[in-house]
Amino acid sequence: MTSFVIQLECQCNNYPWGKKGSNSLAAKYAAATPGGHFKIDESKEYAEQWMGTYSTTPSLVLGTGEDLQKRINANKEELIGKPILNKFGADLPYLPKILSIAKALPLQIHPDKDLAAKLHKKDPQKFGDANHKPEIAVALGKFEVFVGWKPLPEIQQLFTTIPILKSRFLNDSQTQFNGETLKEVVGKILSASDEEIVEVYETLKKTPPTDFGKDSYIPELLPRLAEQYDKSDLGNLVALLTMNYMVLQKGDSIYVPADGIHAYLSGDIVECMARSDNVLNTGFCPRADRDSIDLFTAALSFSPKSADEALLKPKKSDKGLKGHTQVLAPPMSEFNMLVTNLKADETETIKPLQGPAIMIVTGGKGTLKAEGKEHEIKEGYVFFIGYNTEVELAAESGLETHIAFAEA
Ligand SMILES: [Zn+2]
Repeated sequence: MTSFVIQLECQCNNYPWGKKGSNSLAAKYAAATPGGHFKIDESKEYAEQWMGTYSTTPSLVLGTGEDLQKRINANKEELIGKPILNKFGADLPYLPKILSIAKALPLQIHPDKDLAAKLHKKDPQKFGDANHKPEIAVALGKFEVFVGWKPLPEIQQLFTTIPILKSRFLNDSQTQFNGETLKEVVGKILSASDEEIVEVYETLKKTPPTDFGKDSYIPELLPRLAEQYDKSDLGNLVALLTMNYMVLQKGDSIYVPADGIHAYLSGDIVECMARSDNVLNTGFCPRADRDSIDLFTAALSFSPKSADEALLKPKKSDKGLKGHTQVLAPPMSEFNMLVTNLKADETETIKPLQGPAIMIVTGGKGTLKAEGKEHEIKEGYVFFIGYNTEVELAAESGLETHIAFAEA
């Protein structure tokens, strides 16, 4: 008989922005699974633990080492269920990750469906997916992020008050900012030479803090970012001068739409995205790794929003029958995420989800009961939960889980 609750062992990648060794929560989680093969090398950076079936970093069935997607493919209808099978096929439509961020990720956007399809056709090697990649990020502790554009009046204030910004990046006619002005200004920063970026950086460092108005974090973050990559990295200017900077606390989350600019700066998070690994980078990465400025600005959406609009507010979910579960529901159909928090000795019943789910335990320990079986669960354990399976969670010492799932 097919088992609907499958414990997984997951893998971590080693992007250089990840936290080192066992300082990385992603690595700690990957190593937490008893009987798994992942061992932490203290000299390596661990950036992302991937949970799911994306082919470059697949999760394996614990015990057999079988690729989860293979297991699913052999039992499609049972494990995925007809509604999602018809809508998205047998590949999991989403990809959850744990990220442990020591320094800024490349300043990036993920192309929308149209552009992704074109890029994939043109260069399938670099753009492996014809899919968009909107994503959510849920803070597991303090999480710093640059996301979306600041409101236009704020950007305008900076670029018209600070002389070096005005002279380098504005035309005389640009006094009233609109989306087009923003696009031009960002385009100019992206095409500036290293020397020009350094000059602006040095001048901003000497600028009186009051000139930055309410963005008083700019003078503080300038040297910190320059230390991470370099003074000549244009990401410093784009992120600080034109993007929202947010400091989130545990439990807060944001939604990044398909063509939204973002750069995560520090913290440990649960991330979940539509199944895709496409990215366009510029800034916070070596010049050689940057994608073309034209491509980048063409893919970018220049509709500024306040930081608050990026926040994804959790709502109470009726999927948790005992009231301990909230749902994060981004405006996209590939997944939602349930967040369950239990105090010692509390229980929660997650009603049968009408699609496949991936659960990661992000705090505490307890048990998971399903199909008449009981599984021990602990921080870092990851499970696949098949279609239409009721799950009961019981906390021993407090328990927190994140469950990504798709329903048609
Ligand atoms: Zn991203």
